[in-house]
Amino acid sequence: MTERMRAQVFYEPQVMQLEERPIPRPSEIDVLIRVRRCGICGSDLSYYYGVNPLGTPTGKGPLVLGHEFTGEIVEMGSAVRGLRLFQVGDRVVVNPVQNCNACSYCAGGAPHMCPHATVPGVSVDGGFAEYCLSRYTHVFALPDGLADTAAAFIEPVACVVHGLEKLDIKPGHSVVVFGPGPMGLLIVQLAKAVGAGRVILVGTRDDRLEAGRRCGADAVFNVREAASPAYTPDLKGAIAGLTRGALGDRAILATSSPEAFTQALEVTGKLAIVVYFALPARGDVLQIPALPSKVMEKEIRFSRVSPLAWPTAIRLAAQGQVKVEPLLSGSMPLTETPEGFRRMQERIHGTIKIQVTP
Ligand SMILES: [Zn+2]
Ligand SMILES: [Zn+2]
Repeated sequence: MTERMRAQVFYEPQVMQLEERPIPRPSEIDVLIRVRRCGICGSDLSYYYGVNPLGTPTGKGPLVLGHEFTGEIVEMGSAVRGLRLFQVGDRVVVNPVQNCNACSYCAGGAPHMCPHATVPGVSVDGGFAEYCLSRYTHVFALPDGLADTAAAFIEPVACVVHGLEKLDIKPGHSVVVFGPGPMGLLIVQLAKAVGAGRVILVGTRDDRLEAGRRCGADAVFNVREAASPAYTPDLKGAIAGLTRGALGDRAILATSSPEAFTQALEVTGKLAIVVYFALPARGDVLQIPALPSKVMEKEIRFSRVSPLAWPTAIRLAAQGQVKVEPLLSGSMPLTETPEGFRRMQERIHGTIKIQVTP
């Protein structure tokens, strides 16, 4: 094994450069992974474009971004070798929210609330590099035959699994999904797997809504472009028409747009649950119309990252329930990572998701 690797190092908004660095050494409890594929996430974009601070002590770089990665084990720390959980060469995915497994939150089944977690790609170096470290407790071996392209979607799928648990869909429910980005499209794909009867996708771009149809949406609505065949000036009326006046049983926000949040409350009915799944920007404020929410006894819930969702996410991917084709717009070599960020941010040629292949 060569002792040096290439990594894309993020310094400050829109400054990321390819550097040669020593390959990191695993501690007793670490696994060293050769990264095969790493997806660019909306949260990576939010760091790269300065919308949100990093999880480092200063909120700033230098840091290797990237937390949606898959690869193969090349080395294990002594404690990991002793456990015989993995072998060199195993293909794996990594849960990037690496909680301590010792505090009261971790012990109480809420590992995502752990105040001691480290996060590759957010608080420590991540996957836009040839090699990356992970604690062995957050590494999962992959079943044979699962493509790398699908494996690099398991992290967002795990987030979706958690969001869908919060959404608490009952058989036959009408579910309204706002925001046909990569996350919204995965939610559309998987909502039926957990019982949704009808999935309605709401967005502002026809190309994304078309991708939503390929992901299994039963109805799509464009709430912005009057020239769109999917345009509706009256979303509530349109959804009432589809649901015999009952409106949506559930709504989930995969966009941080405040208008979408308002609409989610308008288009859901009695006893609805609305899950805020998106990543807001610093300072965002949500407004809740109090009286109708009270009268209809609505619940507004928040969902963050992917606690306890990994075995389910891997199973869904292994069963072929995660369709990569409508989501994956392209792959870029490590050298082109900043260009991949730009294409996703500017949605060039309808780009939805890009994966980097170090
Ligand atoms: Zn992500
Ligand atoms: Zn903890």
